[in-house]
Amino acid sequence: MRAAYLTGHGGNEVVSVGERPTPTRAAGEVLVRMKAATVNRVDLYMRDSGAGITHNLPQVLGVDGAGVIEEADDTSRIGQRVTLYPGVVCGKCEFCQRGEPVLCAKMSILGEHRDGTMAEFVCLPADNALPIPDDLGFAEAAALGVNYLTAWRMLFTKARLQAGETALVCGVGGGVSFAALQLAKAAGARVLVTSRSAEKLARAKTFGADAGIDAAPERVPAAVMELTNGRGVDVVIENIGGAMWSAALKSLVRGGRVVTCGATIGDNPPADLKRVFIRQLQMFGSTLGNPAELAALIGWCAQGRIRPPIDARYPLDQVPAAFARLESGEQFGKLAIEI
Ligand SMILES: [Zn+2]
Repeated sequence: MRAAYLTGHGGNEVVSVGERPTPTRAAGEVLVRMKAATVNRVDLYMRDSGAGITHNLPQVLGVDGAGVIEEADDTSRIGQRVTLYPGVVCGKCEFCQRGEPVLCAKMSILGEHRDGTMAEFVCLPADNALPIPDDLGFAEAAALGVNYLTAWRMLFTKARLQAGETALVCGVGGGVSFAALQLAKAAGARVLVTSRSAEKLARAKTFGADAGIDAAPERVPAAVMELTNGRGVDVVIENIGGAMWSAALKSLVRGGRVVTCGATIGDNPPADLKRVFIRQLQMFGSTLGNPAELAALIGWCAQGRIRPPIDARYPLDQVPAAFARLESGEQFGKLAIEI
């Protein structure tokens, strides 16, 4: 089969597109003929070092993806359009048993610990392939598996965002942050967004952002207070870290919730404990999500409540060009690989 795969670690020269062995389906698995994947930051991390992620080279790239079931134990599923939950879990540990497979210590993620989705075929447990509505495109469906799933868990499972509340989404140019904007708006929240790009703020407004803040992290809290009549926001969705984490804490209303899923500019900002206990702030860490959350997200797509925008589409042999665009930071929406 054709696939985009890593032969080493470094720049785009370690990304090859060519033949890899077609995976063989085991009992309990489905063989999916892939139609689309999308590019995520972690693909660049895998390309550049993959440090701390156990994997063997050569390895097929791509974490999220969508396609059509080609082989399955349950023959009624053959031909079904599906999107993939990217984590393969043990199913036996205490976390898997209590319905939190995302906490499974043995989780093996497509494109990180095992061959990924930028390939003509993927084999994985049948429960990892979730049916999608007929009117949802493969690229859009692929986009749900990482960015949208991560944002869903942050907003609804962790922060329990309610309609009528106000959320601050930091760095709206990022994939998870943009997904959080769309989902929070669809949930009926008021959403403030930050970005250092006037163009990205303008685009965010076309997707429903109520206000944009173009300011250094240190100046974000003042802008938030101005936009909320001095109250602060109920929820902050944060993945930048460093000075933005401090800004997030200062932007919250008393009892407010902040959820982090990343630390791009620093993972050890001041704890600001006095502020945390006096104002009774709640902090959550989050990463990815569970299959049940992905199913709920697909349900929202079926109801037409959200649809991920695709910035650009590339054929499989142009994966390096898609990576270059992600690195440029110019995209708005997902970069899709069509297979
Ligand atoms: Zn487990």
